Amino acid sequence: MNVAGDAGEQAARTIIDRLCGGGHVALLAGGCVRDMLLKRTPKDHDVATDALPQRVGELFARTRQVGAKFGVVIVRVSGQDVEVATFRTDGVYLDGRHPEDVTFGTAEQDALRRDFTINGLFYDPNGDRVIDYVGGRADLDAGVLRTIGDPDRRFGEDHLRMLRAVRLAARLGFAIDPATQKAIKRLAPNLTHISAERIWMELDEMICAPTRAKAWSMLVGLELQAYLSDQWALDDGFAARIQSRIAALPDRPVDSALALAVLRCDRSTNDATSLARALRLSNRVAGELVWLIRSLPAMTNAGACELADLKLLMANSAWGSLLELFRADLIARKLPLAGFDEVVSRAERIPAGLIAPPPLLSGNDLAEMGMQPGPRVGSILEAVYRSQLNEEITNEQQAKALAAKLIRS
Ligand code: ATP
Ligand code: MG
Repeated sequence: MNVAGDAGEQAARTIIDRLCGGGHVALLAGGCVRDMLLKRTPKDHDVATDALPQRVGELFARTRQVGAKFGVVIVRVSGQDVEVATFRTDGVYLDGRHPEDVTFGTAEQDALRRDFTINGLFYDPNGDRVIDYVGGRADLDAGVLRTIGDPDRRFGEDHLRMLRAVRLAARLGFAIDPATQKAIKRLAPNLTHISAERIWMELDEMICAPTRAKAWSMLVGLELQAYLSDQWALDDGFAARIQSRIAALPDRPVDSALALAVLRCDRSTNDATSLARALRLSNRVAGELVWLIRSLPAMTNAGACELADLKLLMANSAWGSLLELFRADLIARKLPLAGFDEVVSRAERIPAGLIAPPPLLSGNDLAEMGMQPGPRVGSILEAVYRSQLNEEITNEQQAKALAAKLIRS
């Protein structure tokens, strides 16, 4: 297996060589070995070693003890941060997420504490050797995701693993082993003990990726979706439509707000607001989600509505997402795409400079015209701006004339 590649790999190899030179065992571990064997590009390269954290600190100039309790040290080499973790075995799990303590141990113990067989492999770059204590290679070859050891126990220890199982199986196109599936179905309600932030991190990755349709059907099939947050508990008969909307999204990564809107646009704007709060979405994603759900109904008429209304939609940073959502929704409802094509071609005919032009009229202009401050100032500015967007007025003089007429009326 060739591991000489990007800077992260090189840094990990440098670290492994230094640790081995210091008399230690050091191996690539976990997701990166899985991905290299699948000929996929790993996200990061983790090193596992028998050197204790303090020793790792002594061997390298730039280190940060991030998870001292878990024996994890970040080593910086050639501008790259690499996670170096001491072989360990986990103590009891009481909070459904983390072990109370860990004990440093052997490579085999370290493999056994990992979540899935395909994530439990090591690779020794110097001997060009895969070390497999858990049957991970056979499962990689067969395309099967399976817990290491008893699935009920492993999901009982750390409930987040249920979401990791779906995320990885969907991403890799793997099947989840039947016993592993059965345990997930049984323990799904435990997801409610996991923090909203961690749930959203996993869900976000699942639904933004091109494999989102598979991930969502697995979440539904394993009955996990009802426990993502209170907002998902109701099965109100939209399942088939949601699934076909997801399938209609383009075959590439999409933005988080669009992915969530595709799941939730059968429901109200209020639902979107409470979902955003429950999942602790960032302001940006929350704002776009609510806007997408509020704006979708207007798209039905966007080929024929007032020009100003179309331009106001187009001026939003999530306009591209709104078009995707509209298209996916038409497909899911088995409606003709002519309505979508009409909006796209109308939008394309609008010159970029006329979508959100600077207003011809300002509040100062109205004050100079003798208007007292107050709510009417805002409504007149808005009416004049709409007229500008409708291309009924094109210069300041016309804007002031229109304002004067509105003040009088
Ligand atoms: P990704 O490609 O998404 O990073 P990954 O498998 O590399 O997937 P990481 O979160 O980077 O996932 O974790 C690295 C490794 O640590 C995993 O491959 C697995 O061996 C182990 N691991 C991660 N999370 C858990 C967990 N919750 N329980 C047990 N082992 C875990
Ligand atoms: Mg990883």
